[in-house]
Amino acid sequence: GRSLAEADPEVHAAIQAEVGRQRQTLEMIASENFAPLAVMEAQGSVLTNKYAEGYPGRRYYGGCEHVDVIEQLAIDRLKALFGAEYANVQPHSGAQANAAAMAALLQPGDTILGLDLAHGGHLTHGMRLNFSGKLYDVAAYHVRESDHRVDMDEVEQLARERRPKLIVAGWSAYPRQLDFAHFRRIADEVGAYLMVDMAHFAGLVAAGLHPSPVPHAHVVTSTTHKTLGGPRGGVILAAQELAKKFNSSVFPGQQGGPLEHVIAAKAVAFKVAAEPEFRERQERTLEGAQILAERLLQEQNVGVVSGGTDVHLVLVDLRDSELDGKQAEDRLHRVGITVNRNAVPFDPRPPMISSGVRIGTPALAARGFQKPHFTEVSDVIALALRPNATGDDLAKLADRTAALAAAHPLYPELQA
Ligand code: PLP
Repeated sequence: GRSLAEADPEVHAAIQAEVGRQRQTLEMIASENFAPLAVMEAQGSVLTNKYAEGYPGRRYYGGCEHVDVIEQLAIDRLKALFGAEYANVQPHSGAQANAAAMAALLQPGDTILGLDLAHGGHLTHGMRLNFSGKLYDVAAYHVRESDHRVDMDEVEQLARERRPKLIVAGWSAYPRQLDFAHFRRIADEVGAYLMVDMAHFAGLVAAGLHPSPVPHAHVVTSTTHKTLGGPRGGVILAAQELAKKFNSSVFPGQQGGPLEHVIAAKAVAFKVAAEPEFRERQERTLEGAQILAERLLQEQNVGVVSGGTDVHLVLVDLRDSELDGKQAEDRLHRVGITVNRNAVPFDPRPPMISSGVRIGTPALAARGFQKPHFTEVSDVIALALRPNATGDDLAKLADRTAALAAAHPLYPELQA
């Protein structure tokens, strides 16, 4: 058959350009990572052709003998990686995993309690325009203004007042660890399920560098493409007694045919995540975030939400800076560093502008960054965020970024 370049030169050219972008810039979007070549190979395989509605050994289609092997490997590896009794690897994304987990445990109109989006929660934890906000009655907890930590007194008070059927612990933009045991005590007191969405920190948990939610939660959901470093996708973990509920909620409840090519890529990623190199990479991820937080705190009028980080990301607080979140994102783009602007808790600026940027280190750790490289990129970021930085200054910083990128070849096996 025809190659991609022959069949579709336009898409081919855009993909080649994206390979170039990923190589030449420094990726610091906290939810991104670089999947190993082996993961991409599995995802780009003939498995994309296969229908396999159902579960291994119980399919509604013929010819599933090989995809059964693959999906069972993914399930077994995921269970072993996190010490869970039950795993479902079929959710197409983190949002799908959350939709299925909630649908399994809740009726429309039931109350859920999650972290406010503006304080670091995710859309699927009850945002007004999301399925979660439309289908369920939402109560939201917050971080404290004094120290930017989740206010467990408020969680407890809201749980007692609103009697949620489900409490969601998890975040998209929060630089600290949550107290899962405390969440569970509150859930038990009010008769709620506890769902932990570990999408962001799953890789740290897999490496043993972050407390595991699995012993505490009724259900744990995750994406597979953030710190975990696999293909884009979602998973659900739980105790065996809830297995039937979650299986039928994913299929036929929410989805049709599973993406077996993505499931194969998940299986590969779970194998990689159990290897010692993966732990070493997560250690560098954490170290890089520490270095970044410490460096930024030396800058005038630049804050770091909660005063530091325990995870793979730093939330830069620009509430006291002339520079807003949008300008900061644009500045960093100009020097070759990709981040996203993000509201900080109690942000006086509107969400489209915001007073923060979220900066993560997983992708650079995957690229091989060590301490001195994280120090250098932290310096570049800090200098780029000085309100009085000139065009000349930014051009010089762009050269420093380019040198770091050139020193860390990305996907050398791929043609550009
Ligand atoms: N849950 C959390 C905490 C997230 O941060 C995200 C991703 O942004 C998701 C769920 C959704 O994942 P996906 O984008 O794969 O739907």
